[in-house]
Amino acid sequence: MISKMKNEGIIVKTIPYKETSKIVYLYTNEGFKSVKAIGAKKSKNSSFGFGEIGNIVSFIASDSSFPTISEYEIIYSSYKLTEDFNSIMALGKIIELLNYIPEDSIHYRIYPFIKDIIMNIDKNPLKALTIYLIKMTYNFGVSPKLDSCIICGNNNIIDFDVRLGGAICNNHSNNDNYLLKLMVEYYKEKKKIEEYNDYDFKKALEYLNEYYLIHTNIDLKIRW
Ligand SMILES: [Zn+2]
Repeated sequence: MISKMKNEGIIVKTIPYKETSKIVYLYTNEGFKSVKAIGAKKSKNSSFGFGEIGNIVSFIASDSSFPTISEYEIIYSSYKLTEDFNSIMALGKIIELLNYIPEDSIHYRIYPFIKDIIMNIDKNPLKALTIYLIKMTYNFGVSPKLDSCIICGNNNIIDFDVRLGGAICNNHSNNDNYLLKLMVEYYKEKKKIEEYNDYDFKKALEYLNEYYLIHTNIDLKIRW
């Protein structure tokens, strides 16, 4: 008897397998999984969304080291984003960074957060990507120092120094920085994307791109 397991995940990569099938890589609340989707390439039906990157699917797979899908259901389809450049770009960067998540991360906490970000991406893609990148710093073992000036300890902080990885005070900067405000909001435990104020997210993303490059060595290539 073959036992079956119900699961859910975000599709991050697919590769062709034999004549008509695919191997599908998913990010789930237990980390990464790979499954075989037999016949996935043969289907001319465009609704066969099991192999579409960025889709969120629930599926039943055989319980083995290399499981085969028997049933699936699409929870979220990235197909509807194809008309909006920023949404597609944001989804691409979210999935790109997922590939770097350390194996021993707390996946059951990360997964629902990422699912929520993806399902709301089209409302404000640049904001969704910004908040995602702020949250994910923690999983790479870097946490920005935000309570006081990283240079002198003064509490009157106004700017964020990407290179030093912390807040700086009005004696050391005269630049009012969006990224600092966003990070402070994040660390005040705002949960939903709508709860965050609106800033110049393009600028915030430029800072975050540089922050990741310096502190994690990951180049997300976010340039405008
Ligand atoms: Zn200072």
